[in-house]
Order: sequence, then structure tokens, then C-alpha cells
Amino acid sequence: MTAPSTLLASHHLAALTTNEVRALVSKPRTAILLPIGSVEPHGPHLPLATDTLISEASCFLAVSLLEARGITARIAPAISYGVTEFAADFPGAVGVPADVLAAFVRAVVDSLVRDGWSHVVVVNNHLEPKHDAAVRAAIADIPSRRASVASPLTRKWGRTLSDEFKRGNCHAGRYETSLVLAIDESLVAADRTNLPSIATSLSDEIRLGKTSFVEMGLTRAYAGTPSESTREEGEYLIGKLAEMIAGEVLDEVVADCSESLF
Ligand SMILES: [Zn+2]
Repeated sequence: MTAPSTLLASHHLAALTTNEVRALVSKPRTAILLPIGSVEPHGPHLPLATDTLISEASCFLAVSLLEARGITARIAPAISYGVTEFAADFPGAVGVPADVLAAFVRAVVDSLVRDGWSHVVVVNNHLEPKHDAAVRAAIADIPSRRASVASPLTRKWGRTLSDEFKRGNCHAGRYETSLVLAIDESLVAADRTNLPSIATSLSDEIRLGKTSFVEMGLTRAYAGTPSESTREEGEYLIGKLAEMIAGEVLDEVVADCSESLF
């Protein structure tokens, strides 16, 4: 898997000149992928940028899937700050209010639509409910032909992911740790293998009305089983997340959207 620092040079909007963008958007079928993440504590073993890294890495792979289907795609600079109320008790949680995030995402998407990209897909991997809702609200009144959200919280995509993800005990556990191992192993603390398994399901706790990791008893800002994470599982999961992104684009951009996509 390509390290994040090399993402800029390949497939990235910010690496292009204005003339290159003009030439790209004049093509008939184009997509721009907008990664969204957070600056949020992810246990004692993963970086604060985990969600952003996952969004960027899956976008990187999605570009190839889309190009294979005749769609020219590029990756916009990520929006790295999100709503981080659950983790607010831990150092390193740098969040913004939901309405600020929604307005910011909307402004960026509007600019990309105005630039002439056929479709904008907002790729979110920070799954705090208020954050995901703000991302969806940001584009709610843009026609789905022009903009969509790719998020594992959408049931049809979430069910393609791992068992731990589907159980909901997936904050910095086996799911996210595997993903970061696949992106750049050097970003994961070696002692992850000593971390005990925490069976708490975030989705169950949220349904019970809990509003912070500390209230849920997650005193080290993780749940799940990071000790079982593997690079191989992460590579599989990034593939699934890339299919999710490509699927959101193909649903809207490809004329014959009734065919099986993958
Ligand atoms: Zn995360």
C-alpha cells in the first residue's frame, strides 16, 4: 500500500495545474473524491489522523477502479477536522461543531461542482453519528447525480466489511488497526499486540444514550481487538472501501447503472 506522503503526487487534485484541471473536467465522465476524517484519539497505538488516512488510502485505490470503468477520477485535499465529541476527554481531540462542518463541506462541494466535475463523492470514515449526519446534511439538497456520500454507515456498504465492524465495537480495534497496518505499518505502535480486547459495542452504547468514550468505559480510547489486526485484513478492507467509493460514483455516472458493478 502506498504511504500517504506519496498520495499527493499521484491522482491528487492539489498536484495539478489549473490548465490540467480544465482539460480533465472537459472529459465526459469525471469524478472527484473528497476524503473526510477527523483529528481524534484512536487508542494508545494509532495516530490521530487514522480516519483521514483510511479515507485517503481508499480513495487512492478507488481511482484505479474508476479508471478501469472509463471514469477519470482525482482526489481532492482532505477535510481532516470533524465532530469529535465522543473523544473530547482525551488529549488530541480537535473537533468542530456539526453545523460548521456541514457548512464547510457544502462550500467545498459547491466549488468542485462549479469546476465541472461530473460527480463529487464525499468519502467519510469518521463514524461518530453527529459527524456522519453533518456530512450527509451538507449535500442533502444537491441532486444525487452530482454529489453523493460514501460511508461504511450506509448499510449496503457496511455489511461488506469485517465481523468486528458489523458488531459495532470498532473504534481503533481490529478493523481500524488492520487498515492502518495496510496503509503504513510504521504508524502503528508495536505493542498493539499486548492491548486487551474490549467487547463494548459503540453502536449499542450510542443507542443507550452514551455520549462519550469515557461514559462507555473506554478509558484508553479504543474498543474491539487491536491485537488480532493484520496487514492482510487491512488490504482486504481497503479494497472493500474502494469498491464502496467506486460504487457510489458508478451508480450515478455510468449510464447503464443496472449492471452488476463488481
Ligand atoms: Zn476512526
